[in-house]
Amino acid sequence: MAAAKWLLEAQAVLICCGSGSEAAPFYEGGQLYSNEEHFKAHYPSMQQKGFKTASDCIDLVDSRLSSQEKWAFWAEHMQKTRKLPLDEATVERLGVAVGEKDYFVYTCNADSYFERAGFDRRRIYTPAGSWRYYQCAQPCSNEAVFEATESWLAENGNGTSTPRCPLCGGECIPNVRLSEAFNHGQYTRGLQDLIQWIQRCAESQLKLVVLELDSSFKTNRLASFPMESITADIPGSSLIRFSPEKYPFVPAVLQRAVGLPTDTFTELPDLLDKMLSADGRQRAAAAEKRLEQGASTRRTQRLEKSKSAEPIHWRRILEHLGEGLFNCAYERAM
Ligand SMILES: [Zn+2]
Repeated sequence: MAAAKWLLEAQAVLICCGSGSEAAPFYEGGQLYSNEEHFKAHYPSMQQKGFKTASDCIDLVDSRLSSQEKWAFWAEHMQKTRKLPLDEATVERLGVAVGEKDYFVYTCNADSYFERAGFDRRRIYTPAGSWRYYQCAQPCSNEAVFEATESWLAENGNGTSTPRCPLCGGECIPNVRLSEAFNHGQYTRGLQDLIQWIQRCAESQLKLVVLELDSSFKTNRLASFPMESITADIPGSSLIRFSPEKYPFVPAVLQRAVGLPTDTFTELPDLLDKMLSADGRQRAAAAEKRLEQGASTRRTQRLEKSKSAEPIHWRRILEHLGEGLFNCAYERAM
């Protein structure tokens, strides 16, 4: 399996994580932001207004909602996301995949997940922001970002009051990438550290592997596009994408890239472990064969699909342009 070989040879690993993926194992019905059962149980007032998932109402541009109602939802969501339990099995598998290699984390999780899981916070960049902070809605200044402490949440999330910017007195929003008003100031240092880390990898000609988890084309443009550009630009680098999509997509122009279903991630560390031990080579060959057969079946499915009258890739590209969370400033910067 190419993915396992690339990881074995790698000298540096860039872990990329799509948003919401960390909560998947804990809730009936799957991922936190698209989980209707979890939403119904925890946000009944929003469900009564016609929203079905957290993803439906996360930016709350609905004009029927008052500021107090919006903050009642946001404050509760802030509380919940920062206390989400860790998926110990996934953390352990990531540890096996990275080993002693140099690493950096690019995560669209906004709940400090990797920091809570023990990853070095100086090696983490969170482009989607963090539910630990709120900001001025204008924003009136780059410094207008503030910590949402427990007492602040209790005061401003009770449905009767709304927070005000301590600098200008204006309205506030969570400090997450929901609209063009997102204040990135809090995360600029992490971005600079990431850029320097990638530059060091390139200058030292390290074999870099981008390990991308749960970044589907539809929901995680914020993750997928940068990872593809890094893989395209750094000679010898590879992209291993684990995606919840039926046909995991990697651009054909990338020389070393593979898309695999998310569930095969559970087999990868085991395969690596076996490949490293002499007496496990036979078992590794069997596991590799299983994975290759799975990948071959999926490649065949993709080919068959592309022969049909309705090609899948160009259509998905066009469809995502019409979605609400398309971030124009970010796309221009790319
Ligand atoms: Zn302000």
